[in-house]
Amino acid sequence: CGIVGYNGFVDAKEILLKGLEKLEYRGYDSAGIAVHNEEGITVFKEKGRIADLRKAVDEDVVSTVGIGHTRWATHGVPNRRNAHPHQSANGRFTLVHNGVIENYHLLQKAYLKGIQMQSDTDTEVLVQLIELFVKEEGLSTVEAFRKTLSLVHGSYALALLDNEDAGTIYVAKNKSPLLVGVGEDFNVVASDAMAMLQVTDQFIELHDKEIVVVRRDSVEISKLDGRIVERAPYKAELDM
Ligand code: GLU
Repeated sequence: CGIVGYNGFVDAKEILLKGLEKLEYRGYDSAGIAVHNEEGITVFKEKGRIADLRKAVDEDVVSTVGIGHTRWATHGVPNRRNAHPHQSANGRFTLVHNGVIENYHLLQKAYLKGIQMQSDTDTEVLVQLIELFVKEEGLSTVEAFRKTLSLVHGSYALALLDNEDAGTIYVAKNKSPLLVGVGEDFNVVASDAMAMLQVTDQFIELHDKEIVVVRRDSVEISKLDGRIVERAPYKAELDM
């Protein structure tokens, strides 16, 4: 399983698909991407190989921001419905996740009684909570993301898109691998540097319980409590 993301100035689809192919070695049962442009967020996902996903992707949807995922199912059978990305009930947020949310059922019972779930995954609870906290408590996206993650027990690498902000990818990690790659006029996200060596060899390591706001021209890392973290990139050595 794995995660990729691209925020830059060329079409994201091919970079995301190539990145997912580089992560194939990690194993997966389904795959998907979400891209964001003036029309909003478009999701493509399929059970099976990246080659199957490729066929499902509409070439005409051009976008410079996107996220991608290969799934190794832990909650909910491998099918198209349970494949990531997952979207919130009102469609504002789109999320990919690697890992396991151990208390997803408790969180669902405590907060999401009124919400019709669209999948059988543990992941969906997160994207629904983010939307709920934005809607009901008036939190900003990053505040809602923080609040949601402070309630979670488990492992995660996450990448989130907000329909109302086409310029940003929100990411976070805890006990699942995730790196931010830095480029000139673009930034990327990947579970393994290998996935994004196609565009950069500069990577920033992330620590557990850090959140990153990834824009085309900036990378802002903070702790769950909001404290800003400064960390320089390192050069990933090609090991082929
Ligand atoms: N627990 C999530 C699911 O079953 C994510 C699995 C993964 O790491 O790919 O959908």
